Amino acid sequence: MNPNAKITDEQFEAYLEQIRELAEGPFEEMQKEIEISNKFPQEFYDLARDNDLYRFYMPSEYGGWDLNELEILRVQEEFSRGPGGMRMHLHHAADMNWRILDDYGKPELKAKYMDKFQDKTIYCNFAITEQTGGTGADIHTTAVKNADGKYVLNGEKWLISHTDCSDFTYVIAATDLDSDKDSRLSAFFVPNDAPGFEIVPMPHMMGCRGAGHAGLVFHDVELDPIYLLGEEGQGMEIAMHSLSVSRVHIACSNLGMAQRMLELSLKRAADRITFGKPIASRQMIKREIAEMQTYTHALRTLVYDFARDFDADPHGIDIEEKAAICKLFSIYTTRIVSDGMLEIFGGDGYFEDCPYGPVERLYRDARAMWLEEGAPNVQRITIARGCQNRGGRLNYQF
Ligand SMILES: Cc1cc2nc3c(=O)[nH]c(=O)nc-3n(C[C@H](O)[C@H](O)[C@H](O)COP(=O)(O)OP(=O)(O)OC[C@H]3O[C@@H](n4cnc5c(N)ncnc54)[C@H](O)[C@@H]3O)c2cc1C
Repeated sequence: MNPNAKITDEQFEAYLEQIRELAEGPFEEMQKEIEISNKFPQEFYDLARDNDLYRFYMPSEYGGWDLNELEILRVQEEFSRGPGGMRMHLHHAADMNWRILDDYGKPELKAKYMDKFQDKTIYCNFAITEQTGGTGADIHTTAVKNADGKYVLNGEKWLISHTDCSDFTYVIAATDLDSDKDSRLSAFFVPNDAPGFEIVPMPHMMGCRGAGHAGLVFHDVELDPIYLLGEEGQGMEIAMHSLSVSRVHIACSNLGMAQRMLELSLKRAADRITFGKPIASRQMIKREIAEMQTYTHALRTLVYDFARDFDADPHGIDIEEKAAICKLFSIYTTRIVSDGMLEIFGGDGYFEDCPYGPVERLYRDARAMWLEEGAPNVQRITIARGCQNRGGRLNYQF
């Protein structure tokens, strides 16, 4: 336990159990209706607040518990056992939601807002993806300074999470229109009630229902320079650093889901009798279980290794590469484990209302992780860049 943490070891272990019960109990019950409505009820936000899920990850100066990254990720693993849309909301809450303003916001804005995350008085989504270009330097939303020195935002964003419960949006936009380099981009903290800020509805998703996905359109949205994050031209760096930490939270989400899927599969394999024996006794099923356990364990060690690095130095040289490795491997893990789960459950696993748990929903929810915080190829590009630049060596906290 972090020696400075505001809770004791015993309280922390009890908290992990509390969050697991919440995720698999009241949250799961609520999700039945959310699968149809695609909207979280107020009761969800209230329960999350009452269970300190907007606070546990914050530094104590902002009302939090001073947990280290390893501890934060352990809590994340527990709530990721529950519904995917809620996991998405809570994982974002624990990371990019507050971290970007804390890392790059102007002191006046931080003084005004940093203590308002702990009870969700404010919540901030993140918008980089566009319909009109690729994610990265190929961004077409612009923020051009007018005669009054204000930035004027124009363009669109697409596939954006949490648009229905956010007060601000971190927007990546081009400020240097003549450059094709990464330095053409800047990051902004945009109030969602600014004139010209429009939210455009999107269809329901395959899984992770309720997480408020929509498109955004900016029509001449005027921003005082105080809303610029970091320096002009630093947008790509801010996005990459923020996404790299968040990628590990995605990996940890996959870990929580994989662990739950494995446990459900073990129960089913023990109960299901075919040809006079539980399928758990068959070598072919044991092989499946061994694969699922191996990937899940390997993923946990990767995530914990990252957390130790991050706690030692959040801007360390291996952070981006290791974060991308965690995210990429977590997709392999979820693929193996969710396929294994479906194989073990047989036909019953393909139907809703499975008595063992939400097998069918977990399978759908897990697929969002392929895309969140960058598709697998983006992770591969990041990993290969780091690997080639540094001769294949990574550092470890022994
Ligand atoms: C559930 C969900 C939530 C999301 N939430 C957010 C959010 O809150 N904020 C946000 O900004 N975005 C969000 N996204 C968008 C997400 O980050 C993107 O879907 C993802 O980065 C992939 O981009 P794309 O959809 O534009 O795919 P594309 O860019 O069209 O890519 C399609 C395929 O081509 C590959 N590809 C593309 N370009 C290259 C290249 N140069 N080299 C090699 N391969 C390439 C990709 O890897 C991918 O496999 C969300 C997406 C989902 C599904």
